[in-house]
Amino acid sequence: MSFSSGMSRRKFLATASVSAAGAVFLKGCAQPTSTTSTSSSPTSPAPGPVTAGDTPEVTSAVLGYIPIVESAPLIIAKQKGFFEKYGMPDVQVAKQANWAGARDNVTIGSKGGGIDGGQWQMPMAHLITEGAITLNNQKVPMALLCQLNTQGNGIAVAALHTGKGLGVKINDPDYIKGFEATNGRKFKAAHTFPNVNQDFWIRYWFAASGVNPDTDIELLAVPPAETVQGMRNGTMDAFSTGDPWPYRIVSEDIGFMSALTAEIWPYHPEEYLAMRADWVEANPKATKAILKAVMEAQQWCDDPANREELVKICAGREFFNTTTEILTPPYKGAYKMGDGKPDFNDFNKGPLYWKDPNGNSISYPYKSHDLWFITESMRWGFHKNVFSDFDAAKRIIDQVNREDLWREAAQEAGFTADIPSSTSRGVETFFDGITFDPENPQAYLDSQKIKAA
Ligand code: CA
Repeated sequence: MSFSSGMSRRKFLATASVSAAGAVFLKGCAQPTSTTSTSSSPTSPAPGPVTAGDTPEVTSAVLGYIPIVESAPLIIAKQKGFFEKYGMPDVQVAKQANWAGARDNVTIGSKGGGIDGGQWQMPMAHLITEGAITLNNQKVPMALLCQLNTQGNGIAVAALHTGKGLGVKINDPDYIKGFEATNGRKFKAAHTFPNVNQDFWIRYWFAASGVNPDTDIELLAVPPAETVQGMRNGTMDAFSTGDPWPYRIVSEDIGFMSALTAEIWPYHPEEYLAMRADWVEANPKATKAILKAVMEAQQWCDDPANREELVKICAGREFFNTTTEILTPPYKGAYKMGDGKPDFNDFNKGPLYWKDPNGNSISYPYKSHDLWFITESMRWGFHKNVFSDFDAAKRIIDQVNREDLWREAAQEAGFTADIPSSTSRGVETFFDGITFDPENPQAYLDSQKIKAA
């Protein structure tokens, strides 16, 4: 058998068994005869999983994850044998109690009983690097390796607000702004960790309709279970949340979905894989082996034919510990929105992992997306001493973002057709017509009417 093009090899991999026998077969079959070159071009045979000179320095690493759809590529890389295939059979995926726990565990590293890296909201890797969110402001340099997913998140609102026109656009912002005058308390909204994705998504949603999230409402970090309980008993009004919570919120009549993040910003950056920079520096080949395994898992995850198995694996007790009934709809892009809004039934509105329908990479960590998260941090006055200006932003991004390793790993694994040509995805457009041009982030800040003083 020959692997005369990247396409035929990918097709082969997609149908090959990942059983031990299949992996051995692949390894023997695709081993290049030359021991000097590990690069590949569309015309040369694609290299095998572990080519000569690419043997990882270590076979293990501990990667933390949070049991939400963002973590699927890590779980699949483990359970489908992709870490093993690329020479890292002892990688552990370790469930984290919450984001603060993951942060604390990466601060101590696996040598201290913690983790070497894993799944993060943005820009947690940059903030941990700068010591902005760690105990005693300890700086733990991090390496951002790939994006794990896009979409799969949204804004849930309690059932008590049914019929008030709270869609992706809030028809009557005065209903929320005037809530305190009529109810004796401010409209209360939650996310799971301050100054990262879910905080940004709900702030964007409020502000796009003229509600100032810092002054018109009460916005705070609350664990998901408490937030859902609050929405049930009438003490919590809105929640910036991710799958599989949206399905439960609507199906259990706790509330409705005002917006999916896929509506706010189609194919937006979501969560990322990042590891301690000292681990990456000490183990560059192992880092790329992890990346190759995750990339292959992401391609596997986006094959509709694999989604049923994905759901079965991730719903398992040791992972999300939920039911396949709860996890299946988001993986089909099937969202009941509630409150009279039309349902979604579109694969491309749910979580995606490898490539979006516009042909852009999801896995590749575009530096332009790091810049949006830092620009949005500047918009709201988060970590002003760290994200002081765009020069500081550029310096931090150039230190933390290791898109160079992503490119090398993709090249070595034969995923050459999917390597982006630029570190920028270009101009981004939000549902309200606002654009973010990574070449001119100040213009984006100037265009936002609601922002921190
Ligand atoms: Ca998320």
